[in-house]
Amino acid sequence: MNRPEYIVIHHSLTKDGSVKDWEAIRKYHVGTNGWTDIGYHYGIERVNGVLTTQMGRPVFMAGAHTKEAGMNQRSIGICVVGNFDVAPPDWETVGYLRDLCYAIMANYPIPAQNVIGHRDAGLMAGFDWRKIGPTGVREFKTCPGILFPLHGLQIELKGVLT
Ligand SMILES: [Zn+2]
Repeated sequence: MNRPEYIVIHHSLTKDGSVKDWEAIRKYHVGTNGWTDIGYHYGIERVNGVLTTQMGRPVFMAGAHTKEAGMNQRSIGICVVGNFDVAPPDWETVGYLRDLCYAIMANYPIPAQNVIGHRDAGLMAGFDWRKIGPTGVREFKTCPGILFPLHGLQIELKGVLT
């Protein structure tokens, strides 16, 4: 991957259980999908009640998390374990993600407006997650979840770095 220009946020769509799910996601991506490694670069997961950063594939490798708008080659993918279509992430998780984003943004550097959700990459490629087709299926996934406070996160990131 060239120098990353974006951070793309995802959710795992799975319920965050008390044990570590990250390795199960890695196993699925490698064993079932046949990928070299888990598709994301970082993960955030609560393990035994404690928020943790999980390592994904190294950042020098292109991701396998967002095909749309060429984002696998242009972005660092972070997956927050949970399903934020059914409930929003708690404030502590969002704060933890914000701090991880700060560190990555400062390192590359990546501007706050380039911290986006997977669904925003869909919009950039012409797929609108807000549109529901005649069969009741959305045109694109809602990732990182309908209830994920993406806008609030972006505002907080802008507030500090501008
Ligand atoms: Zn996603």
